[in-house]
Amino acid sequence: MDFGPRALIDLSAVRHNLERVRQAAPASRVMAVIKANGYGHGLVRIAAALGGADALAVARVPEAIVLRRAGFAGTLVVLEGCFESGELRAAAEHHLTLVIHSEEQLRLLGAERLARPVACWLKVDTGMHRIGFRWDRAANAYRTLCELPSVKASPGLMSHLASADDLADDLTREQTRRLHAVAGEAGAEALSIANSAGILCWPETRRDWVRPGLMIYGISPMLGGRGSDWDLRPAMTLMSRLIAVTRLKAGDRIGYGGIWTCPEDMPVGVVAIGYGDGYPRHAGSGTPVLVGRRRAPIVGRVSMDMISVDLRGCPGAGVGDPVVLWGEGLPVEEIAEHAGTISYELVCGVTSRVDILESDAATVLQEARA
Ligand SMILES: *Cc1c(COP(=O)(O)O)cnc(C)c1O
Repeated sequence: MDFGPRALIDLSAVRHNLERVRQAAPASRVMAVIKANGYGHGLVRIAAALGGADALAVARVPEAIVLRRAGFAGTLVVLEGCFESGELRAAAEHHLTLVIHSEEQLRLLGAERLARPVACWLKVDTGMHRIGFRWDRAANAYRTLCELPSVKASPGLMSHLASADDLADDLTREQTRRLHAVAGEAGAEALSIANSAGILCWPETRRDWVRPGLMIYGISPMLGGRGSDWDLRPAMTLMSRLIAVTRLKAGDRIGYGGIWTCPEDMPVGVVAIGYGDGYPRHAGSGTPVLVGRRRAPIVGRVSMDMISVDLRGCPGAGVGDPVVLWGEGLPVEEIAEHAGTISYELVCGVTSRVDILESDAATVLQEARA
């Protein structure tokens, strides 16, 4: 038996979640977002599971080149585009599709004589104020882009939503109105604005292309939401095992700083997982884990390699028992709330020390618990 932590990746869940995107946005093409190592799930394996998507998107050119070298031949969009001519030539050679978001990138494209034109999207800043051409100047930039000999005909217009996770924030409607206005003025055909939250909750953002990220991995992007609200299935289950079980006495203080004191004589388990594996150090006492099928709360601070859990609700728990930190049976959204962060950060943050294995988590856990 292997006692170390592992992330089990369920590719049937990924395919199921892509199907849920299709159902939610039946008239749109799907550009599935797999930046940051497929949100921590493994870039190449997630790309292979997403054969049913119309395009894949990554943040940077090197991520896209990894996929080309692995044999992925479909449409690959680079959301941050290129920054110097060597990178631009490599992008063209690998048939990448570039998102153009700045004057510098327009100049770079204008200065380069590419053997074959590259497909592009123009990024419009409709209110997030991160990258993109501000909406009141974007139509001009679009016309400039269209005239460059290095650019393939009919670029699309893309914008990104800043607050779509919050149904009470009207910025999403305003951003959508602004993108439509630019499209009208510029005469662009293909529009893309929806991220996962747009796909699930904002029908007016489901345009020619949608760009699901988090949803593909079975996680809800909505404030206070859970993937199961939308019939999504978690793609990642982070698990480990109990490596010690001790009976402590009333008054014993647990872990670094001794911040948690046993209120009575009680069994406490130690799980082989910690912030060195990507488990959030800010997950406080009370954050749940699953020991077998039962919930047990963390007690005391998260260490680099271990956490302690209160086993009073888990009679019979012993060394070697499987422990789920998030995923199957325990939503990562809930752990993120306990740790004061977002699910995105947790799944992206699993460290290279953790083995990532393709498997059907439900079956693996059943066997581990048997
Ligand atoms: C990351 C990203 C997405 C996906 O967002 P989710 O909230 O994970 O669905 C879409 N578009 C752009 C430009 C992104 O950077």
